[in-house]
Amino acid sequence: MEGSRWPRVTEEPDGALALEIGDGVTGCVLRDLAGGTAPPPFSVRALRPLPPVPPGERPITVDQTNHSVIAGETVVVKWFPRPSRAPHPAPGLLAHLAGFARTATPYAAVYWEDALVALVTAYLPEARDGWEWCVDEAEAGRTDFAADIGSLAAELHLAMAAPSGVFPDPVRLSPPGSGAWRERAEEALREALALTDGEDGVWLAGRAETLRRELEPLASPAATPLIRVHGDLHVGQILRWRDGYAVVDFDGNPTVAGADPYQPAARDLAQLTTSVDHAAQVAVRRRSAGPAATAAWAVSARRRLRTAYTRTLTEAGRSGLLDPTLLRPFEVEQECRELIYAARHLPRWRYAPMGVLRSWFG
Ligand code: ADP
Ligand code: MG
Ligand code: MG
Repeated sequence: MEGSRWPRVTEEPDGALALEIGDGVTGCVLRDLAGGTAPPPFSVRALRPLPPVPPGERPITVDQTNHSVIAGETVVVKWFPRPSRAPHPAPGLLAHLAGFARTATPYAAVYWEDALVALVTAYLPEARDGWEWCVDEAEAGRTDFAADIGSLAAELHLAMAAPSGVFPDPVRLSPPGSGAWRERAEEALREALALTDGEDGVWLAGRAETLRRELEPLASPAATPLIRVHGDLHVGQILRWRDGYAVVDFDGNPTVAGADPYQPAARDLAQLTTSVDHAAQVAVRRRSAGPAATAAWAVSARRRLRTAYTRTLTEAGRSGLLDPTLLRPFEVEQECRELIYAARHLPRWRYAPMGVLRSWFG
């Protein structure tokens, strides 16, 4: 039976879904997508016509949240092993971004009932993500990349802020002074303090008041534009491939449940700049990079990134999309989130946010 070679979806007693992707499933699904069919309760949201896909597949093996497979050296099928029935942001965002070329061309979203189970996009030859290429740059002390990815982030935001059939009204104004962003950031700080033990925990507790003060601009920010942001914009989501840089992975932030999808552009920019600091930490820990030179590299790369970002917005007449007063508090919140993520999922990552916080507040 045709349908038997689609993935198996099982529903656990608590309602959680699990996806089983057996051998040959990716190829079979792609053949059916080309023919425009899907066995119910699967369905397909077509985004662009699927190109012919030659046979042959291989898994992507870098650290990843989901399970991506390259098929025919032409497309990437990203399977979501734990599909969620909550609305997934990626298909809508990718449809909205139809005019934005600097991502992997999206072809189709595959659903099981109302849960997104796969995204099919173009394969970008020779792609490496920033946890490789940006660490290379840190080790070599080069910063030209920072201008490139700064303008890439601004171009993404300009595209997010442009009306489309999907989001005809993509820019909103925040209600002034609600205090909700400070509440969210302080909660992250409290959690980071509670979850970080040992010497790091002692150091952090000694800086708790300083960190809290950094979050104060969030208490009553002026009204500021809100757009659909990427939501998880770090160098690992920026691929350097044969033809330049591309931003991928519009899944949103896996560590913030239920966040309003409309956020200040500064959220993404703050996360991206802190990820450059993380790349510096990785270069020192895992490569031969010297700490002092790498710290200087990070300062200069961050500055170039932000300058290029601002210049690209300004050239488009949209400098008002960025409220720079939000950057520092969002950066501090991001470092707290990295500590929470490390404590919960990846203890060996703790050195990176701790190294960054020590370099800022040492
Ligand atoms: P996840 O949600 O699992 O993090 P991503 O969309 O970020 O998934 O993809 C994981 C990794 O797969 C990326 O870091 C990159 O190395 C590789 N990758 C993703 N999309 C492509 C693509 N279109 N072409 C080539 N490699 C890709
Ligand atoms: Mg990713
Ligand atoms: Mg992801």
